[in-house]
Amino acid sequence: MKAYRMRIYPSKEQVSALHKIMYQARMTYNDAVIERQRAHRNGEKRPSHYGQRDRLCKERNANPNERAAVPAKTVDILMRKLDASVKGAYTRMKKGQPPRFPKPIKRTYSVDFRKGSFTYHRADGTRFGRLRVQNVPGLIKLREHREIPKDKIKEVSVMITKTGEWYASLVCDVPCEIACVAQEPRAVGLDFGLKTRIATSDGTKDTFIHPPVSIDDYKERQVKLARAVSRKFKPGKKQSKRYYNAKRAKARLEEKIARCRGDWQHNVTTMLARDNAVVFAEDIQPTFLLSKDSEKKKNKGFRRHAADAAIGRIKQLLTYKCGKRLRLVDAAYTTQRCSRCGAIAAKELSEREHNCKQCGLALDRDTNAARNVLQAGLAGLLVEPFVKEK
Ligand SMILES: [Zn+2]
Repeated sequence: MKAYRMRIYPSKEQVSALHKIMYQARMTYNDAVIERQRAHRNGEKRPSHYGQRDRLCKERNANPNERAAVPAKTVDILMRKLDASVKGAYTRMKKGQPPRFPKPIKRTYSVDFRKGSFTYHRADGTRFGRLRVQNVPGLIKLREHREIPKDKIKEVSVMITKTGEWYASLVCDVPCEIACVAQEPRAVGLDFGLKTRIATSDGTKDTFIHPPVSIDDYKERQVKLARAVSRKFKPGKKQSKRYYNAKRAKARLEEKIARCRGDWQHNVTTMLARDNAVVFAEDIQPTFLLSKDSEKKKNKGFRRHAADAAIGRIKQLLTYKCGKRLRLVDAAYTTQRCSRCGAIAAKELSEREHNCKQCGLALDRDTNAARNVLQAGLAGLLVEPFVKEK
């Protein structure tokens, strides 16, 4: 499944219709959440997803003024999602983890439509497509910035960003794996880190693979804007127009940063999938990336969180772009071991160079680690192919 995210330009009436659907969908969802919570608290039998869907659809038909804007298929999607998150909560509870039971939601930014509650056409000779969704008057203008496989659209999600832009995400039933097109297919090892997000075994990291510099430039502005917002905030009073303007400016910049980051992540992962026959990555949870001494620095929490999220996202993208060509390698001691002779050279987190006392290899720390990942991966392939499927 591949999602195509397109900007849409709904008219005023369409915007209010979409808001109405989102509001009613939220009320419907929250009703179901409360029922689930009550059942859980009183130890009653768990309501099923079908039962809830049928009940809420009946209520929907009985109160056309309050609920009828939500398509029945959307109710089904919502109940499925709720069912999945309740199941997750019970699984976590069994394991003794915090359950994170679903709660009623206060805001909605998106609503999903399944096949049958939307249609999509594109008029020839224009850059615009037309999207019709159930219970929204007329056709919504959609900027088709790239070709959409029109007959393969399975689901449409309409969403609004914090800055008030509307998007439609068209989920299409097409394979998202990218074929390797390299002249001489190679294998590559990857090392993920905090300083350099990705280092490859062939030594690239600061050139094409480095995150765009512009993000760092934006960061400074982001801090300034955040300060401006908190300065204009008046506790316990009605907020000024200037406050809301500052808030919007901050949100706009944050969206820009997110777009830049996403663009970079897509570029890097596509490049890796296209140029390599096999991609090896370390089989580690992102949270274990950092050693204890960096954990002590509490103020690094945000950066750490961001780096974890970025690495997780890159792995996710690689997983669907490479498919079975992505291999996870159990890579113990990748940073410590020398990639030429195998001797262990212990390092502090601050040491950026690998210097081997045994064979004299001097190499960048992350490149050395990536080479170890590649070697471990190739060794695994020779011994037993398909060691770890994921
Ligand atoms: Zn060595």
